[in-house]
Amino acid sequence: MSQAAPRAPAAPAGPAPLAGSLEAGAALADFIWFRTGGPAEWLARPRDRADLAGFLGALPADMPVMAVGVGSNLIVRDGGVPGVVIRLPKSFATVTVEPGLRLRAGAAAMGITVASAARDAGIAGLEFLRGIPGTIGGAVRMNGGAYGRDMADLLIEATVVTRAGAIETWPAARLGYSYRHSALPEGAVVVEALLQGGAGTVAAIAAEMDRIAAEREASQPLRARTGGSTFKNPPGAKAWALIDAAGCRGLRRGDAQVSEKHCNFLLNLGGASSADIEALGEEVRGRVLAHAGVTLEWEIQRIGRAAAPEGETR
Ligand SMILES: Cc1cc2nc3c(=O)[nH]c(=O)nc-3n(C[C@H](O)[C@H](O)[C@H](O)COP(=O)(O)OP(=O)(O)OC[C@H]3O[C@@H](n4cnc5c(N)ncnc54)[C@H](O)[C@@H]3O)c2cc1C
Repeated sequence: MSQAAPRAPAAPAGPAPLAGSLEAGAALADFIWFRTGGPAEWLARPRDRADLAGFLGALPADMPVMAVGVGSNLIVRDGGVPGVVIRLPKSFATVTVEPGLRLRAGAAAMGITVASAARDAGIAGLEFLRGIPGTIGGAVRMNGGAYGRDMADLLIEATVVTRAGAIETWPAARLGYSYRHSALPEGAVVVEALLQGGAGTVAAIAAEMDRIAAEREASQPLRARTGGSTFKNPPGAKAWALIDAAGCRGLRRGDAQVSEKHCNFLLNLGGASSADIEALGEEVRGRVLAHAGVTLEWEIQRIGRAAAPEGETR
């Protein structure tokens, strides 16, 4: 009698089928800028947009879903993120130039890659993306911007995979943009953006990008573990100036610190937890309120749940 061939070990049962990879209890701190926080219950890397759409459509309706880019605007709380976190792989990072001074960018493409492609094609107006160290998906969601321009000025339409698993093209107006805010619903994933630029010369665009890079280098802690601007600028004021005036420059809580270089940036000096960073942010908010009567609004997205108190299990 012939013996049956040994079976390959079964893949861990996921919340829904996915052709890309699906990992249970996956670390997010490995790539999130702050390098802190707990794991994702599930981390999904879809192969392509059809794979993502099929996966989301088959998920139980009560399963929470969120996309992440490179975590340059995120605090992931120490207890981790329940449900499914979607991370788009490199296959979603292509950038192509289209007629009419337009660029089509996959949501996983980095801002600098898109700005550089625009420069090489003589397309002006996207230079500010040089200074935003996140993905185009994150910038579409956050209405990322700098130097008086933001995504609302560029975006013609975004391709979105809805939480229900439909692939849709949304004109920019549907994103309801305001300062660092979009109306993208929870669980929806941006997979592509069509951007409109203007005519420019390669030399002038390159010079502007170099100016932005030098200005950033001089004013921001670019090589630190940080999450970018912590608070939105309140109408008519600069968050950093309010924080400075309230005496918070350099303020510490454990290994979390308000940056000396740019005091709207929080830093993980090495051993901070997400709870330390968030508590420091709340302390800054309290001091600014007491000093200037202004309530700062978080720009950094805080996701997941706090770690259970010691001795307690979840
Ligand atoms: C040194 C530094 C400088 C910065 N300077 C600026 C600046 O000048 N201007 C500015 O606007 N920001 C700035 N930021 C913040 C940050 O880079 C931007 O907000 C960026 O757009 C976030 O992109 P990300 O891919 O890292 O998104 P993440 O931080 O991973 O996520 C941010 C939000 O976007 C959502 N998201 C991410 N990808 C997708 C997707 N594909 N579909 C749907 N939702 C998605 C997430 O769910 C989350 O809500 C800076 C950050 C740092 C660290």
